[in-house]
Amino acid sequence: MRFGTKAIRAGQEPDPVTGSVVVPIYMASTYVMDRVGELKAGWEYARSGNPTRAALEKSIAALENGEYGLAFASGMAAETAVTSLVRSGEHILATKDIYGGTFRLLRHLREKYQIEHSYADFTDLDQLEQALTPQTRLVWMESPSNPTLVVVDIAAIADIAHRHSALLVVDNTFASPYLQTPLDLGADIVLHSTTKYIGGHSDLVGGAAVTRDPDLYERLYRYQNDFGGVPSPFDCWLSLRGIRTLHVRMEAHCRNARRVAQFLEEHPKIEWVRYPGLPSHPQHELAKEQMRHGFGGMIAVGVKGGAECARRLCEGTKVFNLAESLGGAESLIGYPPLMSHASMTAEERAWCGIPDNMVRISVGLEDPDDLVDDLAAALEAV
Ligand SMILES: *Cc1c(COP(=O)(O)O)cnc(C)c1O
Repeated sequence: MRFGTKAIRAGQEPDPVTGSVVVPIYMASTYVMDRVGELKAGWEYARSGNPTRAALEKSIAALENGEYGLAFASGMAAETAVTSLVRSGEHILATKDIYGGTFRLLRHLREKYQIEHSYADFTDLDQLEQALTPQTRLVWMESPSNPTLVVVDIAAIADIAHRHSALLVVDNTFASPYLQTPLDLGADIVLHSTTKYIGGHSDLVGGAAVTRDPDLYERLYRYQNDFGGVPSPFDCWLSLRGIRTLHVRMEAHCRNARRVAQFLEEHPKIEWVRYPGLPSHPQHELAKEQMRHGFGGMIAVGVKGGAECARRLCEGTKVFNLAESLGGAESLIGYPPLMSHASMTAEERAWCGIPDNMVRISVGLEDPDDLVDDLAAALEAV
């Protein structure tokens, strides 16, 4: 099946009991047995398994061209399960362009459990290879990254990780499986904050992990069940509802973002624009090879005049809402240094390429003319 068909059909078969064309929300916490230990249809207790969640897990696995999907209560719950593959004394190597919450989680794992980590610039494959240690179990990356929109070579990094007996984990939240399927490029585990493009409507918090390896799946399933960070049946249902339009939404996100990026690139008050779809992006050629259909809905810009002007732009828009998060139908604007990446020190932000004049934009699905007009008016007042 092709992507658009999978988005609507995979895991979302009509309900075998009633014929409902939409997967029902099974709210039951427990399931009846006829005899001790004999389950009626395989369902026992809803933390361990739930039919609505199982449909979502099947759907996301299919979209990522994986074999096994696991849904979690949040992207961070998915990350907690995946980092549980690592023991004390072992090591995680992460790209320096990483989500602020992942940065905090890795710090916590070091302080509390002596799970070591270090960062490298994954656009420099030599630097990446030198940063691997015999203890490295996971190589952790995003592409495009949050909030710097850096694109790195997933296939080349998978090769290097495997040569050093490490697993490659790709956080595919920014691209969505419509634009990029990292398992096809050699990744071992794909992660999502389904809060973002997969849910797509800013009305849920969720996460997912997908793999092709039955052994990894068994271990991750155990962590999902043991830690219990599972999503509610209603949130699973909302995610499935979002997925049915993922391909259509992503097309519009890409189209609108290209338009907004081109507008900003020509604006005299904007110092630089980072959008993988622009020829000015340092990894534009790689993005063209590695991604399909388009380059996503996220843009980072540097505003001339520094932090004060960047904050004025964020506070001056009317259509774009000043808020955390991304990937919803409504356009959002944010200031990473004091919002998503506030847990970093100024030095850490500088090293990660998050300057004080950076503004991050999640381009939504409104009419692109209104989005451009709104930014033009806000920039006028900066
Ligand atoms: C939001 C986000 C996360 C965390 O997901 P939550 O659903 O907020 O827990 C992880 N990675 C990326 C790239 C994100 O944008």
